[in-house]
Amino acid sequence: MTTQLLHHNEQDIQTAGRLLAAGGLVAIPTETVYGLAADATNGEAVARIFAAKGRPMDNPLIVHIADFGDIRRFSLVREIPETAYALANAFWPGPLTMIMKKGDAIPDAVSAGLDTVAVRLPAHPVARAVIRAAQTPLAAPSANLSGSPSPTSAQHVMGDLDGKIDAVLDGGDCAVGLESTVITLVTEVPRVLRPGGVTVEQLRSVLGEVDVDDAVLHRLAEGQVAASPGMKYKHYAPKANVILLSCTDSEFIGYVNSHAGSGVAALCCDEDIPMLRGVMTISLGARGDYDTQAHRLFDCLRRIDGYGSVQTVYSRLPATDGVGLAVCNRLIRAAGFEVIYLEQT
Ligand code: AMP
Ligand code: MG
Repeated sequence: MTTQLLHHNEQDIQTAGRLLAAGGLVAIPTETVYGLAADATNGEAVARIFAAKGRPMDNPLIVHIADFGDIRRFSLVREIPETAYALANAFWPGPLTMIMKKGDAIPDAVSAGLDTVAVRLPAHPVARAVIRAAQTPLAAPSANLSGSPSPTSAQHVMGDLDGKIDAVLDGGDCAVGLESTVITLVTEVPRVLRPGGVTVEQLRSVLGEVDVDDAVLHRLAEGQVAASPGMKYKHYAPKANVILLSCTDSEFIGYVNSHAGSGVAALCCDEDIPMLRGVMTISLGARGDYDTQAHRLFDCLRRIDGYGSVQTVYSRLPATDGVGLAVCNRLIRAAGFEVIYLEQT
């Protein structure tokens, strides 16, 4: 299959819409990461997403809509809880996914057999224009091969999926750079299953009480069932071995310098670079600038693989306030939960 490269003009948006309405697969830009889209109401089209990505069939997909009214119009959910109206008012369009009881229009392939469905109204105007052109909601997981870092540019998508999908619509780099926050509204207290661009603090300011699922920062115990199936997989990982250090800034510099050598890299902050010796440095941005760190994280993880010779990458265990929680959640998975706790001095 030849993968067409489309651009964000009216004609190409209509082409993407036609391909999707006919059951094809098109990677589209959103403000979080690129999504690999298919008609969410067409079980066969959705099955192709799993095949192209090599995604485990038990990992459900997020359904993307162009307007709040699409939830009812396409019978996506059984009922819309009050909490969903409040969150939509505050954060939609934007990087927030809400899980509700699934409606009749959702094929089993989308929800991976669960009785719930995840819905998001993206902020990216091109994403919404493609949904409208397709005249159907779009199921769209991140447009990477399963297990690789999520794509934040059309080039990343091509690197993983060229020849496996109908088209990629190039809308430039993604603004947020990390996937959406996922919150379930079917539990008694709403619960964050995956942290993202909308922070836990922001959610609490609207809903009051909000829980954070254990799987956000911890490996599931043997046999424990994941509330969000995606959280149980090692994910976002470059081929090099990522090791996280829980430590102060000076301990980080000291530890990395004492482990310097060929094949060693530091995924670090701008301020560390002058103090690190004998290691390759890849900066996520300034210390404490979580938005930039989130924006650059996946690109940095992909660049590490591009350097080929890197075998070990040291990074800090990030702080967990604000968007830091999302950066920490992705890095901890990239590291396969391998964290070294240095003695705090
Ligand atoms: P991706 O679109 O690849 O970024 O992944 C979507 C994330 O949302 C995964 O972690 C899924 O497990 C999660 N998800 C999607 N639908 C549901 C659902 N109905 N219940 C729980 N988690 C879900
Ligand atoms: Mg993904």
